[in-house]
Amino acid sequence: MSDLRQVRVRCPRCGDCRIDAADVSLIVPTPGQGLTISPRVVFSCPRCSLATWQTVRWQITVALEELGAHATVRPAEVDERPSGAPFTQIDLVRWDALISDDTALRAAVDRISQESA
Ligand SMILES: [Zn+2]
Repeated sequence: MSDLRQVRVRCPRCGDCRIDAADVSLIVPTPGQGLTISPRVVFSCPRCSLATWQTVRWQITVALEELGAHATVRPAEVDERPSGAPFTQIDLVRWDALISDDTALRAAVDRISQESA
């Protein structure tokens, strides 16, 4: 007799497995990300412990939450693609100098606060 709080997941190594819904996490896109990104179920395989994920339909997320799965909103930053020059070692040295100098750091924080206000 199967536990009603278990769900079927697919491990790339082991194939179909059953796992307690409370042992899976849901990664749910934010509304601004639209419906082109599917929700994901993240879990560790109950047989081989491989950490993996699979996409699921929106309707499934509701049922999984009711069964005890923990939902997390997928941060919009995950899908952002930065523009501009790549971060370099020189940038890292400058960053280290900035955070080592309290006065310069305070000025930078103030400047960013003013720009975002
Ligand atoms: Zn497995």
